[in-house]
Amino acid sequence: MRIIIVGGSIAGVNAALACRQEYPNAQITLIEQQAHLGHLPRELFFSLEQQQFTSHELVLQEEINKTYQIEVFLETKCERLRDHEVELSDTTRLPFDKLIIATGSTQRSRLAGTHETFQTQWLYKSVKDQHEIYNKIKQASSIAIVGAGAVGISFASALAKQEKKITIYERNERPLARYFDEDMTPILTRFLQANQMDCLFGQAVEQITPTEKGYQVTTANTTQSADLVLLAVNTRPETQELTTYLAKNTDGTLWVDDYLQTSQTDVFAIGDAIHVKFRPTKEELYISSIENARRTAEVVAKNLHRLIQKDIGSIRPFEGNFFGVDYLSLGLLEQEAIFVDYPVAIKSLKLTATTFLKIVFHKKTRRLLGLQLVAQEVSIQVKEWAYQGVDDAIVVDEWLIHLSKMI
Ligand SMILES: Cc1cc2nc3c(=O)[nH]c(=O)nc-3n(C[C@H](O)[C@H](O)[C@H](O)COP(=O)(O)OP(=O)(O)OC[C@H]3O[C@@H](n4cnc5c(N)ncnc54)[C@H](O)[C@@H]3O)c2cc1C
Repeated sequence: MRIIIVGGSIAGVNAALACRQEYPNAQITLIEQQAHLGHLPRELFFSLEQQQFTSHELVLQEEINKTYQIEVFLETKCERLRDHEVELSDTTRLPFDKLIIATGSTQRSRLAGTHETFQTQWLYKSVKDQHEIYNKIKQASSIAIVGAGAVGISFASALAKQEKKITIYERNERPLARYFDEDMTPILTRFLQANQMDCLFGQAVEQITPTEKGYQVTTANTTQSADLVLLAVNTRPETQELTTYLAKNTDGTLWVDDYLQTSQTDVFAIGDAIHVKFRPTKEELYISSIENARRTAEVVAKNLHRLIQKDIGSIRPFEGNFFGVDYLSLGLLEQEAIFVDYPVAIKSLKLTATTFLKIVFHKKTRRLLGLQLVAQEVSIQVKEWAYQGVDDAIVVDEWLIHLSKMI
């Protein structure tokens, strides 16, 4: 069997390794348009905290090639998809029995002008772009962060110790609104304010205008200048000719069935390129995460020979440490309880002076559906128990008894 994987980042690399394990004799080729295999984008925040740029590839080309016998093409874009054949940027055509599309996502926003401007000024996902944005951040005295989601808050926290004027714009009334209920984030807002960051929450940015010195950022209420703007808004798959003939969802993600097969037989898609099921509501959601990339990579490898394993979906894990406080969110939030057709109960607990837990569970079966934990420090043991609790929907009373022994 000849397997081709397009995209050599978290999903693609994990799929290549999982395919090697499933099919020891397959010919596996991994194609990546950049000069190296993927890295963890969050390393940018580590670099900013340490004030020194670092970046590590997930795996080296030689290692994946020699140890796992996986052929790797770097600096090669996969341009077109034909019937059991792909065409590369140098016009070579490669036949395949099974194709896995792991082309991921990129940052996109209508605020950033043309596609070209965006490509040259705003991206910070690849190592090259991260290095450039790192240098721009170093030089800027005033920075506007647009979006107080996971990426925006990571920027804010990483820059806390640097003497820069930071303004955070967020259309919601609070940070991390996608991952936490309202009562779990006031502590984060207090930390942002205590670090002299201007939080313009409840204000959507309407326009970003380049000026001689930097930018002007305009909302309905105000216009302010900044040397640099960091767009920390949604990511989505890039429009590519490669996927022209594949069915898509309205937001540009590739449509896949439960086995991760696209609208074309023998062509699969994984990671940030697709929607997945949010397990508690069964709703199709766009969840850009490492967990998703890894899980879908494992599932797709099982399904290449025969369609045998459905993707169970994601509990949308979110983990972060901001201003020295750990934040963990898994599964259903209280604010999402209206989207399920079963009765839901909520319990909020102050476990220690600095540990706040909120759990969401099925009112009748008492099985855990989701939890949010904000604590000075969450041990690995507690984290693992939290994942297990939501993953396996453990009965909440049992789960809490065991947790109390760990805290
Ligand atoms: C700044 C930042 C911080 C993040 N931090 C976290 C975090 O802490 N935790 C977390 O869970 N998630 C985090 N994420 C999200 C996470 O990085 C993504 O969910 C993950 O990278 C998705 O992996 P992927 O392999 O599906 O896609 P991508 O990482 O987008 O990789 C796709 C790859 O495909 C290549 N490619 C695309 N098209 C072609 C083509 N036609 N031919 C050849 N190659 C192609 C691209 O060059 C790229 O290397 C973060 C994202 C960003 C931007």
